[in-house]
Amino acid sequence: MSGLRTIEQALADVLGRCRALPAETVELGAAYRRVLAAEARAVSDLPPFDSSAMDGYAVRAADTPGTLRVSGHSAAGHPASGDLQAGEAIEISTGAVVPAGADAVVQVERVVARAGEIDAEGVGPGENIRPRGGDVHAGDVVVAAGVELGPAQLGALAAAGVAEVVCGRAAQVVVLPTGSELRPPGAPLGPGEIYESNSTLLAAQLASAGAHADVLAPVADDERATRAALERGLSADVLLTSGGVSVGPHDLVRTLLAELGVTEIFWGVSVRPGKPVFFGVRDSTLVFGLPGNPVSTLVSFELFVRPALAALQGAADPGPHYRAGRLGRTVRRNEARDDLLRAVADGDTLTPLGGQESHMIVRAAAANALVHVPRGDGELEAGAHVSWLPV
Ligand code: AMP
Ligand code: MG
Repeated sequence: MSGLRTIEQALADVLGRCRALPAETVELGAAYRRVLAAEARAVSDLPPFDSSAMDGYAVRAADTPGTLRVSGHSAAGHPASGDLQAGEAIEISTGAVVPAGADAVVQVERVVARAGEIDAEGVGPGENIRPRGGDVHAGDVVVAAGVELGPAQLGALAAAGVAEVVCGRAAQVVVLPTGSELRPPGAPLGPGEIYESNSTLLAAQLASAGAHADVLAPVADDERATRAALERGLSADVLLTSGGVSVGPHDLVRTLLAELGVTEIFWGVSVRPGKPVFFGVRDSTLVFGLPGNPVSTLVSFELFVRPALAALQGAADPGPHYRAGRLGRTVRRNEARDDLLRAVADGDTLTPLGGQESHMIVRAAAANALVHVPRGDGELEAGAHVSWLPV
């Protein structure tokens, strides 16, 4: 692990090997967190007609202020039966069609209603009317290719009448925890055993990245069992192993991956936590050997795996999407490696938590941010500009 790569070099190595997966048609309801492979265009104008922004009366602005005869009503989904004539008002609800002949809506709070007529205050032309196509016109792009679909994008597509979208296929990811000491939560612990946490953690990270996870049962540090499980994982788009990639005698993963035809791209990144992270490829399968310490797994995923999944799924900007902030307290820098400190973000102030060791996943669970502290001498002072990732 002599020639450690920087985080930036390692990320470039990873993204350089990511080819977008083939596109497929996806129903809108199943497209959350998927990435558009083709731009999606509006089926209709939005709003599809001039509509009222208020409950009130549709009028001719030139007739106001004044007394107007109420000649009908227009409710959402039930337009008025006729046009508006001079001297008339049509009662209208929010979102209802503005009748032809009207050019403004007087809100209900600004009229005095009597039987069959109103005294309306003055309104200007266009007031309280949402013009047809004011949000988007039919045929215009609603969401561009390469954009990940979140709640607002999905809502926009539905509003514009789009029922299905073309997305990059979701990556199929196999997760393989390794380690003879691992037991599932719920089982009693024998001597030297610990609870297996990384597959649960990774499954959640994968779900949030829009990937499909196939989580295999943990394998002991045994060559045959590990080889068989790795072989299975190598049929996926991405294989994530956890543990067994360090330099100990039970760290079998690298050797076995090499035997199985995986080309090593890198092993070791100058980052803390996560230094022994491995990345290799076999044909179109990407293989990440994530270090076993749970916080190392968490951080390595955010630095390298999440961007790789985004790139595979066709994202134009795969990240990681760092934000700008300021350090909430002074920290000592690491001479050799960049730190990703678990921290609490409050506004743009990032306060690193106590308990920064890579096995301390419970301490890490109090964090909502990973703060990047570049390697170097001495300290990084409170108030210093830093970049950080939300977690
Ligand atoms: P390794 O990378 O296999 O040397 O593991 C480093 C540390 O992480 C050891 O203390 C392991 O017991 C622990 N570890 C490895 N895999 C897991 C896992 N899936 N869940 C929780 N801890 C793990
Ligand atoms: Mg191990």
